[in-house]
This record gives sequence, C-alpha cells and structure tokens, in this order.
Amino acid sequence: ATPAAIMVGTGRAAELGVLFRKGSALEMLAGVDTVLFDKTGTVTRGRPTLVARGGAQEALVIAAAVERDSEHPIARAIVDAAPTPSQPVENFRVVPGQGVEGQLAGTQVRVGTREFLEQQNIAIPEDDELRSQEAAGATIVFVAQGNTYLGWLAVADALRPEAPAVCTALRQMGMNLALVTGDGETAAHRVAKQLGIEEVHARILPQDKAKIVQEVQAGGRRVAFIGDGINDAPALAQANVGIALASGTEIAMEAADVTLSHPDLGTLVTALRAARQTLGRIR
Ligand code: ADP
Ligand code: MG
Repeated sequence: ATPAAIMVGTGRAAELGVLFRKGSALEMLAGVDTVLFDKTGTVTRGRPTLVARGGAQEALVIAAAVERDSEHPIARAIVDAAPTPSQPVENFRVVPGQGVEGQLAGTQVRVGTREFLEQQNIAIPEDDELRSQEAAGATIVFVAQGNTYLGWLAVADALRPEAPAVCTALRQMGMNLALVTGDGETAAHRVAKQLGIEEVHARILPQDKAKIVQEVQAGGRRVAFIGDGINDAPALAQANVGIALASGTEIAMEAADVTLSHPDLGTLVTALRAARQTLGRIR
C-alpha cells in the first residue's frame, strides 16, 4: 500500500476507535494470523466483584488496605467490598501476575496467588468452599500477615458480552486463537470454553506471557496480543502487533502498537478488517 493509503486507513480506523501508534502497525496487523488474548480485563469486563470469602474476618479489611494502591481489577473488587476505610500501608509493592504486598502496622501483608504466599512458606489449609468457588470460575486471592495465613477472597468477573461473537468472527477470518492468563487453570478453562478457544495457557507470569508469544512466532505465526494490564506489557512488546485496551493501564498502552479506545472487543475485528482492506488482503 502507498503511504497515502496507509494514512487514509489509519484515519478511518481512528474514527472507529482503533488508534495506530505508527503506520507500520496497520501493515503488520494485515498479516496477523494468530490472536492471543489476555483474560482478566480483556475478554472479561475487568470489573470483578467479591463473591465469597473464607478464613478470618479481618482478611478482607487487611487485603483492602494493601489493594488500595493497586490498579488491578481484582484490587478494586476487594477495596469496594471492604466495610471500613483502611489504614495506610507502607512499602507497597506490586508483583505483576502474582499480587501485592505492603507493611501494615509494621508487619508484612501479602495478597495474591497461592504461589505468591507459598514462596513465603505460608501454608494454606484445605478448604472445600474455596474449591467449589474455584470450580465455579472465581479467582481466589489469598491473604497473609507476617507468616500467618488469614484467609481467601473469591472474586468473579463477567465475560464481555461481545466476546464470544468476536471470537467467532476472528475464526471466520482464519485466525488462530489462544488464551494466555496469569489466572488459574480452572478459571481460565471456564472462560476459554465460553469463547470456543481450545488453546489455554494458565498461571503464566508476565515474562512467560512474552515467551509464549515468542514460541508461537517461532512456529511461523504472526501474532497479535491483546491485553490491558501491567502484566501484559512484555507480551504486547514481543507480539508482531500489541493491542491494548484504553480502559486498561497506561503501561500496557505504552508497550502496545495499537490502542482500542472503546471498551468493546468488536473494534478488534474492525481493526483487522481495516488493516486487511488497506493492504488489499480482504479474505
Ligand atoms: P490476567 O493475566 O488474567 O490479566 P494477572 O496476570 O493480572 O491476570 O494476574 C494473575 C493472577 O495474579 C490473578 O489471577 C491473581 O490471582 C493474582 N493477582 C494479580 N494482581 C493481584 C492483586 N492486585 N491482588 C491480588 N491478586 C492479584
Ligand atoms: Mg488483564
């Protein structure tokens, strides 16, 4: 395509809510044959709510105190569900793909995945209610203070209503689809099933998300990765085309080549069609 055609295509896409950060992104997008999706906040709404909890009463309030400074959708669910305004936390730290930590009244609090707590040698007791929440597709967040396990919080997020139709449209365009998430196997497979996606990579840390992109690329595929979080930044940078949701984090947008300005995954299909049309590769 001529530079003029690229400009026209880029301009038209922008009107539809697809912002290309550089002209080459449109050309790259026209050649994409594989779309890798992040889960939380990308194919789900990113507005999870607390649906159940177990363990000590104070687990929720303590978790909320630490999550107050996090941008993660899970953090908002926890903060919104906590009854009281929280105490200030010191030395707050995000561990992308795993959780958050900080000091509350001089003791270290950890909120995040099972592995995140187990790294600190915190033992998590068996719990049937927890297992059943997990089986229902909720994400389980664990809370510990010092070396003491406090309890768990189950948060659940709804699928974006347009997501199944978007996946169908992408498959009709000949795209290979996969889900790549930091969340656990159970929640990941449940979402993938609703989208008709067979390839699922769960419990993937941010650096490993990028490695999965690399592996797919090594198989000769041209990959678009679509995500919203800090944890997606390495994968967005590694992909042939990184696509960030404007509803997501600043860091994701900086790492991406394309931003979808409407919180609607349908614009992903729009973007791919616009790219193929501009490059004269309509299928
Ligand atoms: P996804 O890839 O689905 O967007 P992330 O990589 O952001 O998920 O997070 C992976 C997992 O890490 C989450 O499912 C959650 O268990 C844990 N996690 C991440 N951030 C937080 C947080 N702020 N609070 C609690 N848990 C978190
Ligand atoms: Mg996400």
